[in-house]
Amino acid sequence: MPELPEVETVRLALLPALTDRRIVEAYVGRPDLRWPLPKKLAKRLEGRIFGIPHRRGKFLLLPLDGQETLLLHLGMSGSIRIHESPPELNKHDHFMLAMAPFAGTVATTFVVFNDPRRFGWIDLFSDEVHPMLAQMGPEPLGNMFSAAYLAAVLSNRSGPVKTALMNQQLVAGVGNIYACEALFYAGISPRRKASSIKGRRAQRLTAAIRDVLQRAIAEGGTSLRDHVQPGGEIGYFAQKLAVYGREGEFCYQCGGRIRAIVQSGRSSFYCSNCQR
Ligand SMILES: [Zn+2]
Repeated sequence: MPELPEVETVRLALLPALTDRRIVEAYVGRPDLRWPLPKKLAKRLEGRIFGIPHRRGKFLLLPLDGQETLLLHLGMSGSIRIHESPPELNKHDHFMLAMAPFAGTVATTFVVFNDPRRFGWIDLFSDEVHPMLAQMGPEPLGNMFSAAYLAAVLSNRSGPVKTALMNQQLVAGVGNIYACEALFYAGISPRRKASSIKGRRAQRLTAAIRDVLQRAIAEGGTSLRDHVQPGGEIGYFAQKLAVYGREGEFCYQCGGRIRAIVQSGRSSFYCSNCQR
């Protein structure tokens, strides 16, 4: 499931494919994904020019001329492919943009959105802040995210810290994988009460969140540079994870066994020796 680093990797790949380029043709394969798509979306997109793609949490925000923004969310299984020639669309390719250079009319780049489980979102909005983004917490790699901030927002939470970290209103873009990994590197149990995270613990956790995300973004960048097979999915890359998905395997730090528990319907992986 794509989290902040995967979405950031997709954004980096979209920068040259979309920025200052014109939509020659938009293909919309179905009226809905997770929610209904905007009415007449293909027609509203055709002829328009993209600004610079940016990201907020797990959302891709693709500004267009005319002060509208195309919002993309990869959901649980969404992926993007970029082709240099018209691709054959597969069963789960629900959306495609054929892009031409700024002054051109012939499409030279094709951006395809594939989503088998259809939890992805596509929206087109003109407001300054999309309602889905208005409540979102600070970017974990931005200046607003600090140990003091984290301790303050966790201080009145009664649940476990792992569940709180995945709350997009507290911090944007952290999901199950990176919450598990950050807690491991901070030496904090996912079961620990959120309200007990303060002082040094808050500092360790803030640094660990930043660190795991930055390392994953670097991996994603490497995957883009190594990306030689045309038509490959962007944003899914192999990583060395310390605990996530490693139930029953040895902890790299202490040699103990990695455990898995379910919290708020999601699996939490951790080492009970290393994480308290
Ligand atoms: Zn351990």
